[in-house]
Amino acid sequence: MQKHLVLVGGGHAHMVTLKNLHSFIKQGHKVTVIGPSKYHYYSGMGPGMLGKTYTPDDIRFAVEQVVIKQGGNFVLDKVIKIDPVSKSVFLESGDPITYDVLSFNAGSYVPWDQVDGEQTDIFSAKPIETLLKAQERFLELISIKKTNVGIVGGGPSSLEIAGNIWQLASDLGRYMPKITIFAGSRLMSRFPEKIRKMAYKILRKRDIEIIEQDYSKKVQTGRITLESGAVHEADIIFLAVGVKPSTIFKESHLPTGPDGGLLVNKYLQCTEHPEIFGGGDCIYFQDQPLDKVGVYAVRENPVLYHNLMATLEGGELHPFDPGGSYLLIFNVGGSRGILGKNSLIFDGRLAFWIKDYIDRKFMREFQEMEK
Ligand SMILES: Cc1cc2nc3c(=O)[nH]c(=O)nc-3n(C[C@H](O)[C@H](O)[C@H](O)COP(=O)(O)OP(=O)(O)OC[C@H]3O[C@@H](n4cnc5c(N)ncnc54)[C@H](O)[C@@H]3O)c2cc1C
Repeated sequence: MQKHLVLVGGGHAHMVTLKNLHSFIKQGHKVTVIGPSKYHYYSGMGPGMLGKTYTPDDIRFAVEQVVIKQGGNFVLDKVIKIDPVSKSVFLESGDPITYDVLSFNAGSYVPWDQVDGEQTDIFSAKPIETLLKAQERFLELISIKKTNVGIVGGGPSSLEIAGNIWQLASDLGRYMPKITIFAGSRLMSRFPEKIRKMAYKILRKRDIEIIEQDYSKKVQTGRITLESGAVHEADIIFLAVGVKPSTIFKESHLPTGPDGGLLVNKYLQCTEHPEIFGGGDCIYFQDQPLDKVGVYAVRENPVLYHNLMATLEGGELHPFDPGGSYLLIFNVGGSRGILGKNSLIFDGRLAFWIKDYIDRKFMREFQEMEK
C-alpha cells in the first residue's frame, strides 16, 4: 500500500535518506520534503564562506533538485507545527500536509532574545546563509571606514567568525577592523585548556580583543550592553550565543527534552508517536544528551534512513549508537586551524588542511547527487 513519507528539513541527518529517496519511490511510496530554502548549507564550511575561502556553491547542496530528480515532491515552505493525531504538518503558508511517516531534521537556531529594537547590521551565526549577507555588509563597511565588529558568544562559532572576519579584512588590506569577542564567562570554556590557550594566542596575535567575566545583556543596532553596565559600540554585530532546537516540537505539544528538542528513543523515534523520527540538532536523544555538532547528525544518517524504510515496509528498527569521541577542527582563518581529538591537540596549517580535505570530500559526496 502506498504510504506518504514527509521529511521536514533537508539537513545533515537526512543526507543519506535524500540520497536514497528513489528507493522509497521504487517501493511505491510518496515522498515530500519541506524546507525554507532550495539549498542546504553545510555549517562546517560556513565560517570559511564568510572568510571567502569557499564560495556559496562550494558549501551548499541543492535539496530541491535532488528530491525532484528522484521523483519526490519538494515544498518550499517552513513547518510551524504538526498535529500527531490527524497526522498533519502545518506550513507557514497555511496549507496542511498529511503523513504516514514523518522525519524531522529541522535543526537549530540562534535565539534573538537579547536583541532590542531594530535589527539592522545584526547577523546570527545560523542559518548559514546569513553569513553571506553579513559578508556583503562587512565588505561595504570596511571599504569606507575603520569598522568595529562585535561578536557576542564565547564558543567555537565566535572563534571561527572572528578568525574569518579577520581573514576577509586582511586579504583586502584596506581598513583593518577592530574585532571584539564578548565571550560571557570564558572563551571556549567547555574545551580543554590547551585548545583555549591556542585560541587566545591566535586571536591576540591578530589584535582581536576578548572580553570575559561579563555577559552581554542587550544587543541593539550599533551597541552591545553588558551585565556590568559597560556599553560597547559596534558597527556590525554577530550573534553566536549558542543554539536551541527548532520550536516546532513545543508548538506541537510533542514530548521534548530539557532543551526543547524532540525527545527520541534509541531508534531516533519519538517516544510517544512511533511514526515520527528525527535527527540532528533538533532532537534530544533520551539515552544520553548529545552535543549540538554536525558529527552526530552525520552519524545518525544510516540509522534514520533504515528506520524510515523499516517503518514504511514493516521491518525491524536499528538502534543508534552515538559512538565515542569525535574529531573537532576549528577554522580560525588565515588557513590555520585548531585540531582536537582526545589528547591529540595541535594548531596550524596542517589542522586547517585536514579540515578542508574532510569538508570538501563530504560535500563532494553529496553534491554528486545533483548530477
Ligand atoms: C558557524 C557554525 C559552524 C559550525 N561548524 C561545525 C563543524 O565544523 N563541525 C561540526 O560537527 N559542527 C559544526 N557546527 C554545528 C552544526 O552546525 C550543527 O550541529 C549541524 O548544523 C546540525 O545539523 P542539522 O542538519 O541538524 O541542522 P541544520 O544544519 O540547522 O539544518 C536544518 C535544516 O532544516 C531546515 N529547516 C529549519 N527550520 C525548518 C522548518 N521550520 N521547516 C522546514 N525546514 C526547516 C533548514 O533550512 C536546514 O536545511 C557549526 C555550527 C555553526 C553555527
